[in-house]
Amino acid sequence: MQSTHMAVTLPIYMDHMATTPVAPEVFEVMRPYFCERFGNPASRSHSFGWVAEEAVELARAQVARLLGCKAAEIVWTSGATEANNLAIKGVAAAYREKGRHIVTSQIEHHAVLDTCKRLEREGYEVTYLPVDQDGRIDPADVERAIRKDTILISIMAANNEIGTLQPIAEIGLIAKRHGVLFHTDAAQYVGKLPLSVDDWQVDLLSASAHKCYGPKGVGALYVRMSRPRVKLVPQMDGGGHEKGRRSGTLNVPGCVGFGAACALAERELETQPVRLRLLRERLRNELESGLDYLRFNGHPTERLPGNLNVSFEFVEGESLLMALREIAVSSGSACTSATTEPSYVLLAIGLNVELAHASIRFGLGRSNTEEEVDYVGARVIENIDRLRALSPSYEMVREGIGVKGTPWNLRAY
Ligand SMILES: *Cc1c(COP(=O)(O)O)cnc(C)c1O
Repeated sequence: MQSTHMAVTLPIYMDHMATTPVAPEVFEVMRPYFCERFGNPASRSHSFGWVAEEAVELARAQVARLLGCKAAEIVWTSGATEANNLAIKGVAAAYREKGRHIVTSQIEHHAVLDTCKRLEREGYEVTYLPVDQDGRIDPADVERAIRKDTILISIMAANNEIGTLQPIAEIGLIAKRHGVLFHTDAAQYVGKLPLSVDDWQVDLLSASAHKCYGPKGVGALYVRMSRPRVKLVPQMDGGGHEKGRRSGTLNVPGCVGFGAACALAERELETQPVRLRLLRERLRNELESGLDYLRFNGHPTERLPGNLNVSFEFVEGESLLMALREIAVSSGSACTSATTEPSYVLLAIGLNVELAHASIRFGLGRSNTEEEVDYVGARVIENIDRLRALSPSYEMVREGIGVKGTPWNLRAY
């Protein structure tokens, strides 16, 4: 499937917001825990169990270190989806006598939105806050949404589509002042930028290993143990693992891999964001100098280093992706079985359905190089030019007949 072209190997992976490869050094740490050190960490009566338990506890400490919390505050899960479910449903059930109102945003991941929708069917009330044109939530809106019966605020740290970072510390301050628990889905943030649960004043935080060079199928939920001590009703019943918070035999190689990925992220936390930001700016500059009528989505500065989300006017989303088959990127359309829906995140920041479909998310990561960025930039420009040559409305605008009038705001960031 792979072929070499100029200085790059095809296909090029530029979809690191969807998933990342397991880093080789992470895989080497995981390797012994499949066949040799295969013990069950819950086995207390022999060394096979002790060896596995020791590895899982070291990994727990590594995850905790990256988040700035205690190891005992980490609950292993199968990923951020489960962590979000456990946080929101767990708090909703534990505090139902206190109140039934939850505050979240319109641009959360489905794991948060669909969990909230289920709770609505069960008698809870949810406020879905809007975002501005850069995808930012106004902390004042959060404060205004808080009621006497509000039990939880859940706002993501970084958006998976447009890369916008939310003012988590400001929202944390508001949550604390009103005595409302605060959860953040930090699946896209953990390992990419430095964070501390105390600086943010969050009470619950979801993370996922496969978004930061660890394996798929493992994640973690941070649950604050003191001031306040967060109560959770477990969503998985069984052997009482994880202090009763999440039953089920642990995915030992997965936990070990997540720990190693966190240690790796910590070592690279100074260098990777700088490198990725430069690569992203390089790609943005190339697109901007080669094309007109494009729009960069997400916040100009408050954004994930490796994320670039661009809308191209006068092209069809489908044909664009088809033309870029040798480049792995995501589009502004969510393919749910048969139908193709425009991204609700792009609609929430004010794009129309057409433009949402004609959008591409580039997710730069550890493996990407300047050569790859240059190759991708050139291919995109080439294909947009070709597709636009077939568009009558683009021709009319070029000739000044003015179908739409002004070009898209070409903002710098
Ligand atoms: C990927 C992702 C999830 C889901 O994580 P899984 O570990 O794949 O279940 C949740 N929230 C955000 C923001 C994500 O990017």
